[in-house]
Amino acid sequence: MSARILVVEDEPAIRELIAVNLRHAGYSVAEAGSAEDARAQLDGALPDLVLLDWMLPRQSGIDFAKQLRADPRTAALPIVLLTARAQEGDKLQGFETGADDYVTKPFSPRELLARVRALLRRAGHAGAANDDDPIEIGGLRLEPASMRVLADGMPLALSPTEFRLLHCFMRNPDRVLSRARLLDSVWGDHVYIEERTVDVHVRRLRVALAPGGHQRLIETVRGGGYRFLPR
Ligand code: CA
Repeated sequence: MSARILVVEDEPAIRELIAVNLRHAGYSVAEAGSAEDARAQLDGALPDLVLLDWMLPRQSGIDFAKQLRADPRTAALPIVLLTARAQEGDKLQGFETGADDYVTKPFSPRELLARVRALLRRAGHAGAANDDDPIEIGGLRLEPASMRVLADGMPLALSPTEFRLLHCFMRNPDRVLSRARLLDSVWGDHVYIEERTVDVHVRRLRVALAPGGHQRLIETVRGGGYRFLPR
């Protein structure tokens, strides 16, 4: 479950350089050469983060970011704006239009990766770097590499969907996760899946966790969604 990043940049050499570095860091990368191309891709599946160049043909990155913020489906999408302009006024304009962070060209791949990683973390995504690390909470151990879950050392039988759901919970302990958020994390996109599907899978997950008594770690939050209790 590495984070997916959409790179929107019209200059092929720069776009490729960014994509190669992100892939090398373990991210899954989609590429778009224009705002129109990016919009078409976003209609399909939502990425975890958008790297958006300011200077694009026809529609600028700033304009596109404004549109993304105005649409409820993409309003919370983390956006890093790429630009060659370094003036303070321009920086402010970047943040006012809804970009979450800002990287000025020329940038080093290391700097770009640091910004991407930090923003994904702020957005509640563990990111590619530690996606495969085992997580242990309250006697429950989840091992992403082998897709195993152990309850006090005893293996539990989870379906792949329940596994991804539990992974999402355990990466975000003590945080209220909405059904929409869980859908995005577990299924990748929520266009064709109803939110009550989440309830069905949470119910199944609780049944799967019951042998060790760990179903109590998943709390239903009225009107909010669910929360994984870190104890
Ligand atoms: Ca450009």
